[in-house]
Amino acid sequence: MNRVPFQFSQRATQLTSSAIREILKITERPDVTSFAGGLPSHLGFPTEQIRAAYDKVLSESPKVALQYGPTEGYRPLREWVVSDFQARGTQIDVDEVLIVSGSQQALDLIGKLFIDPGSKVLVESPSYLGALQSFSLFEPVYEPVATDDGGLIPEDISDEKADGARFIYCLPNFQNPTGRTMDLERRQALVERCARLNVPIVEDDPYGELRYVGEPLPGLLHLGRQAGATVLRMGSFSKVLAPGMRLGYLVAPREIIAKLVQIKQATDLHTATVTQMAVYETIKDGFLNTHLPKVRELYRNQCQYMLDAMDEHFPKSAKWTRPTGGMFIWVKVDEQFDTTVALAQAVEQYKVAYVPGEPFYPNVNAPKNTLRLSFVTVTEEKIRAGIADLGKLFTA
Ligand code: PMP
Repeated sequence: MNRVPFQFSQRATQLTSSAIREILKITERPDVTSFAGGLPSHLGFPTEQIRAAYDKVLSESPKVALQYGPTEGYRPLREWVVSDFQARGTQIDVDEVLIVSGSQQALDLIGKLFIDPGSKVLVESPSYLGALQSFSLFEPVYEPVATDDGGLIPEDISDEKADGARFIYCLPNFQNPTGRTMDLERRQALVERCARLNVPIVEDDPYGELRYVGEPLPGLLHLGRQAGATVLRMGSFSKVLAPGMRLGYLVAPREIIAKLVQIKQATDLHTATVTQMAVYETIKDGFLNTHLPKVRELYRNQCQYMLDAMDEHFPKSAKWTRPTGGMFIWVKVDEQFDTTVALAQAVEQYKVAYVPGEPFYPNVNAPKNTLRLSFVTVTEEKIRAGIADLGKLFTA
């Protein structure tokens, strides 16, 4: 008998090694200047406050902190989320909040809840690769929605495109990978269209608090509730505190949260109690009001170093975004370049890494001449040198 020692599921078999994972391997090399990672700057981690919070939680409430907890999450933290929304003029109820192990987990739970094999899912083109990978495990058919410098174009969601769509996934603030932001008019048009066409909106907003130019705009959850749209909104503590704690939240209508609770229970019972309590302890007295301005200042400066270097060194044939927040700049180089092919040369010849744009597109006919640059973890000096090298590489 010809027995194989193990057999993977079809779901697992269709997985290929991710471009991101391959690139993260390169970025670990100390001699490479990496603009490729999606990591926040460790200079923004409030280490002392977090250490003190864990200390307090473990000395004062170890029996709760080290015990199993409710799937919905630690109630005071859920209530903090409610008050944070309230401070921005959006009324939500604590039953509409689910604490998750990073917003990446929310993507997985949403995939499990809404996607059957062959289900239509609308996504911005390009979009966050980690979301495409997460949803893809449930075998959707992606329907790309066009974008331009103003982000997602609501008019591209035709009645036909929306027909039968399980949801639309969008990133209105400082999008990953492009750094683009949707203006108020487009946000309004999007929620009205989705309300009319009965397409739930999945709003992913890990970077919203990292706005360093201009005023914040109302989120899709806020606008969507006024327009009668169904909106699921994800928030994350990864970029405002630290990603290693793996903590985020999801706000959605009660009946959706109730189903997601069942799914999360089957997935991991609940998010780590001690982490939820430590984060609550860190932020409960308004710590973010003093902490976030420092992170924004750091990112604003880093972004400016890179934009200045690009203005100086990039060829006229290249176009790039000028983000008002977040971590990423999106570049379109001359059409003769294939950025996936050029990456090998960038790393070998110049010891500089970036992420080629192609994997961020849900469709097969992705342009080959785009790339994503992150400016947050590299020093000013290395940004200048690395951008000068990329300028040489992409000069025709
Ligand atoms: N959504 C987007 C758009 C992201 O960029 C990321 C992190 N790179 C995530 C979700 C996942 O974040 P978290 O750490 O909260 O899981």
